[in-house]
Amino acid sequence: MQGELSAGPDGFHHPASEAELVALVKAAYRDGRLLRVRGAAHSVSDAIYTEPPGVNRVSRQAPPADGNINVMLDGYRGWRVKDEARKLVEAEAGIHLGADPSDPTGTAELATGLLSQLATQKGWTLYDTGGVTHQTVSGFTATGSSGGSLQFTSNRNLWGFRLIDGRGEVHELTRDDADPDLFYSMSPSVGLLGVVSTITFECTDLFAIEGEEATTSLDDCPADLFGPGAGGRPSLERFLRDTEFARLEWWPQRGAERVLTWQAKRLKVPPDFRPNPYRRFEGSPEASEQLISILFTIIGNLDDLSQAKQKLEDNFDQLERVLEALPAAKGLGVAGRLIAEFLSRAIEFGVDAAITTLQPFAGLVQKAVPDVLPKLIAAFIPLDSDKDGPARFTDWGWSGLPMDNQADDELMPTEFTEAWVPLPRTREVVQLLQTYFTEPHDDDEALQRTGTYAWELYSAMPTPFWLSPAHSSGDDEWKDGAFRVDPYWFADNAENPAKTFFAGLWKLLRENDIPFRLHWGKFQPEYERGDRDWVDYFRAQYPRWDDFLRLRAERDPNNIFLTDYWRDRFGIWDEPEPVSKRER
Ligand SMILES: Cc1cc2nc3c(=O)[nH]c(=O)nc-3n(C[C@H](O)[C@H](O)[C@H](O)COP(=O)(O)OP(=O)(O)OC[C@H]3O[C@@H](n4cnc5c(N)ncnc54)[C@H](O)[C@@H]3O)c2cc1C
Repeated sequence: MQGELSAGPDGFHHPASEAELVALVKAAYRDGRLLRVRGAAHSVSDAIYTEPPGVNRVSRQAPPADGNINVMLDGYRGWRVKDEARKLVEAEAGIHLGADPSDPTGTAELATGLLSQLATQKGWTLYDTGGVTHQTVSGFTATGSSGGSLQFTSNRNLWGFRLIDGRGEVHELTRDDADPDLFYSMSPSVGLLGVVSTITFECTDLFAIEGEEATTSLDDCPADLFGPGAGGRPSLERFLRDTEFARLEWWPQRGAERVLTWQAKRLKVPPDFRPNPYRRFEGSPEASEQLISILFTIIGNLDDLSQAKQKLEDNFDQLERVLEALPAAKGLGVAGRLIAEFLSRAIEFGVDAAITTLQPFAGLVQKAVPDVLPKLIAAFIPLDSDKDGPARFTDWGWSGLPMDNQADDELMPTEFTEAWVPLPRTREVVQLLQTYFTEPHDDDEALQRTGTYAWELYSAMPTPFWLSPAHSSGDDEWKDGAFRVDPYWFADNAENPAKTFFAGLWKLLRENDIPFRLHWGKFQPEYERGDRDWVDYFRAQYPRWDDFLRLRAERDPNNIFLTDYWRDRFGIWDEPEPVSKRER
């Protein structure tokens, strides 16, 4: 046991059983040390680790060497059937939903993920998880993550949790408890109520899906984006209600305006079913991503190109392909020529030399970005009218619903903030965004607002889980579910989006009195310790906020799970620090 109480060479503790987890928690309680668990590290890093390890980003960074306990559950990934008839499956907290290509241990493969094992060994599955299945079951539920559907949700599969509280005591909470209220405190719990040891799912039978993705102008979108519904097209809200699984990616940049509408429905599995899976970036996904990623890296770091050096060097072999592909984006003018020159110098003389050459002209390229970007987007994401129409697909639900699994976390590292608003506000919010994007006279200002990447629009079912951003008491404005606005940010861009790009969206919603809640694993506002403005705003959005904090104090009397990041989120600044922090 002693061995498990010390960290491995990677800085993480790797307990392999509940007993070892309990021992670690007891040690943290006794010594007054912080303890946090890492899932697949898809959330912003401050939400995960014991101390902010540097910049708050989505990255697979090493844990901080701060004398605290950071846990990785790569040795705790088993599962077992608890009740065959009810399809109850208990999964250990470290198991991933699918493969995690960025797993530092290299062991989180498709075949070791929960969904593929359930499908192949039992013919069971979950109703709907998110756009990717790289996450661990405990990370996914700890942040209240969810797929895009108003008809299906994995929240309905959640049946029970085994939780190790801040003293090392184990609690079992299930949906069938005489009073299941505390069960509903568990997703999201963001690691503040204790360490989740296992999660029991009530599975459903395996199903297949069929669907399509259309790439259209805003006017040709299958949903009437800004209106009440017209010309045979439903309003966006109606579209989201009626479509079993749906998500839209809106590219609002001036001159590029287009939308990718991905939709699917359940399919009765034919006897000889052969999936014809969806392909993101049709053709050669990896090549397209590499191209976009390299161009975004240059464009996002024009102020100081040296920040792009590492990324460009990592992708050095691909620079030639980007150079070849550039002419496909027509009319790039001087900026296009400068980027081409940059790439050819990098290929011939190395990235450093190319940076030295381009940096003096970076201002020129910067000025041209509002003009160049739409051309690049049009080249890489062509409208259906310029190709063979929408992409159609059939697949198993468990492998087809996560439509972004093919997007590479390393090539296209993406960060997000995600605002959830009551579903009936959908039209108001999309109209507000459209005005926000189109009103600036200045192209640079318009680009600041749209960003260079897509805005994801989707939905989630209402739920009684206390801190879920789709929480509803059943008779409030959230009772029909939530509409979700999820702007993407290319993580290799230089700026801190919480101060600029994401802050613009939060301000817009707040100033226009749109009630909103934020995804717990994605970017949230930054503010000084003691500033209660945002804390009080979000407290007012969650009827069970205070109940959650009371329970937290009870479950974690020594505050071993309460990091600075989470203190700031909930405004818990008067609780004593664990000894490990007081001593420094
Ligand atoms: C490319 C990408 C796509 C995404 N798509 C979606 C989507 O479609 N829908 C959606 O809702 N979200 C989505 N997300 C967000 C993602 O689902 C969440 O960030 C989720 O928390 C990630 O799970 P994880 O295993 O990486 O957990 P981590 O990010 O590692 O951890 C999340 C939180 O859970 C805590 N935690 C983890 N395990 C335990 C445990 N055993 N006990 C106690 N606390 C624990 C961590 O400390 C942390 O606070 C996406 C994120 C990315 C990067």
